[in-house]
Amino acid sequence: ADLELLRAEKLSMTGKLARTIAHEVRNPLTNLSLALEQLKDEIPEEVVEDAELYFNIISRNTDRIGKLISDLLNSSKPKELQLVNQSLNRIVSDTLDLVRDRLNLQSMTLEESYEAAIPDFPLDADQLNVAILNLFINAIEAMKPEVGVLTVTTILEKGKAILTITDNGKGIDQKSINHLFEPFFTGKKEGTGLGLTTVQNIVHSHQGVISINSELGVGTTFYVTFNC
Ligand code: ADP
Ligand code: MG
Repeated sequence: ADLELLRAEKLSMTGKLARTIAHEVRNPLTNLSLALEQLKDEIPEEVVEDAELYFNIISRNTDRIGKLISDLLNSSKPKELQLVNQSLNRIVSDTLDLVRDRLNLQSMTLEESYEAAIPDFPLDADQLNVAILNLFINAIEAMKPEVGVLTVTTILEKGKAILTITDNGKGIDQKSINHLFEPFFTGKKEGTGLGLTTVQNIVHSHQGVISINSELGVGTTFYVTFNC
């Protein structure tokens, strides 16, 4: 339990640090973009074409940093919830609608099963959409076309609604599992490492719990548990 506490503390410190850095980077970045626009007007006619290439590189990269910063701020700031009594099953299945085409396109199999006995309870559908979509996308990205199987279930256990999302993808090694929810932790070339930070933030703001079970080369299950 002490270890758990320490871990939670470390994570919240990481979030705070990330937020502070994000704020600190945003101002100089804005100055940089403004100065760049000014500089463009100062370029002599003869070299404007050569300069164009470099201007584009600079502005593409300032845009990218800007997007990272805003993702980071969005992923780690406490969210204000719009809670409405509603069906968890409905939210899950609506979110799945957003990836059904993608699953089909990659010839992956989808298995869904919903516990009908789960009562409606207070949920923020927009935010849960974002959270669950992130979990689906991670699962899909971990699996191979043709053989990938995404299993999505809801169950009711001792007054708790549990959403499980299982893939038979590449799995996660134990060392990485300890860092999954930290901002910027990514195992992907083009990843931001902010998806699971966002997911955890949204689940926690619902007083929910998120946990993982994963085996390298076998697959991964994410469990999201709510009091209902
Ligand atoms: P991103 O997807 O941008 O890398 P995330 O926070 O969503 O950031 O995920 C962090 C990392 O956790 C991923 O890069 C990946 O290495 C690992 N991960 C998350 N979900 C899964 C999964 N279902 N199977 C295997 N690895 C996963
Ligand atoms: Mg992700």
